[in-house]
This record gives sequence, C-alpha cells and structure tokens, in this order.
Amino acid sequence: MILGRNCTRNCAFCNIANSDTTSIDPNEPRNIAEMTKELELKHVVITSVTRDDLEDGGSEQFVKVIKEIRNITKATIEVLTPDFEGVEVDRQRVSVAKPEIYNHNVETVPELYDIIRPQAIHKRSIEFLKGIKKDDPSILTKSGIMVGLGETDDQLKSLLDDIVSAQVDIFTCGQYLRPSKLNYKVQEYKTEEWFEKFKEIAMNAGIKNVYSSPFTRSSYNASEIIDKIKSSKLN
Ligand code: SF4
Repeated sequence: MILGRNCTRNCAFCNIANSDTTSIDPNEPRNIAEMTKELELKHVVITSVTRDDLEDGGSEQFVKVIKEIRNITKATIEVLTPDFEGVEVDRQRVSVAKPEIYNHNVETVPELYDIIRPQAIHKRSIEFLKGIKKDDPSILTKSGIMVGLGETDDQLKSLLDDIVSAQVDIFTCGQYLRPSKLNYKVQEYKTEEWFEKFKEIAMNAGIKNVYSSPFTRSSYNASEIIDKIKSSKLN
C-alpha cells in the first residue's frame, strides 16, 4: 500500500486512519520494485490510501511504482486505485502505464454510500471503470463489493447492471467483516450457497470472471488470474 498510512476519506468499513497525511516518499517506487525482485513475486497488487489532498491524487506515484517494477522484474502488475475524484487525466496517467489489471472497487450498492462510503459517488466510480476501458481496452478492469452491510438482493442486481455497463472483466464479492468496534456493524452473514448463487447471477448478467465466496477479497486468487492472463483465457 503506497502513499502513506493515513487517508483523506473516512469509509465506515475501513480501519485506516482518517488523519493528517504524510509527504510522498520518493524512494517508495524503487523500494517496492526491489522487494518484488527479492521476493521473486509473479504478481504484485499496488493499492493506496485515498489522497484527495494531492494535486494528482497520487496517480503519479502509481505510475512511478509500475515503471520501477517493470524496470527490474517480470512481475505482472495489478493496481487498485481510488477514484482520483473522477479527474480523467489522473486515471489516464495510470492507464498509460499499462498495468495488467486496473482495479477500482465500488464496495457496496449506491443506496448505502452515504453511510458506508460518504466521500465517494457511485456514478463517479462506474464512470471511472468505463473510462479505463476507453483509455485502453487491452487493460483488464476489475471491481468488487462486500456484502452483509444491509444491501438488498434487488439493489445488488441493479449494481450488477452498472458493472456490466462498465464492461468490467473481473468482479469480486466477499462477506464484510468488521475490522474493529469503531467500524460499521455486520448486518448479515450470507451463506456459502448465497455466494454461489450470486456468482451465477453475476455471470448470467454478463460478467465473465466472478469470484464470490465468504472469504473472497479484492486480490483473491491472484495466481489463478495471472495464469489466465498468460494463457489469454480471461477475455
Ligand atoms: S478511501 Fe480507501 S483507504 Fe480511505 S477510508 Fe475509504 S476504503 Fe479506507
């Protein structure tokens, strides 16, 4: 996770501190690349806190990290970015660096944004995902949600329509677990059968690669996805 420990936003499900942000570490891209090399990683997921305080939203640092990793390793790269407040040039900057996977999580249904993700806007996140495909259709796009926050099945079906309209390639769905007592309470624990059924609904809606289970997380089964990329079976 790059761009510091503190976030400019305050999502109810997240345990990252919403307090003063720190300056950008100029050594961060090189350090991550060297660690990737040393650990002989095949696939790296780069994410960040949201940095609405920075003029470029932190997008330039994502680009630097991608370039440094590419300079000294053959690892495939997945970025999981904030929405950069919908600023197209920031999103495009990262697209130009061509990560293999460009992920932006919508996290939950739009009806719950006010309490779960108050500084985000559902439509802006969907436009962000659409924008990546416009920037470069060869980049695989990814998004994901947590369930058990109080969403309804009908709200989820409508959300899937938005994800399909954004041509998202990979979609993840997992059970929300409360990271601390200060975070939003779990409203419901879904069954394994529910997750299997949801996967079927999502695939029938038109999403080709769906990962849905209680413990699915954003970077779930990264190695399986890499193998699919390498054998070009994903699209
Ligand atoms: S924007 Fe991301 S890092 Fe910041 S509070 Fe929300 S989920 Fe956590």
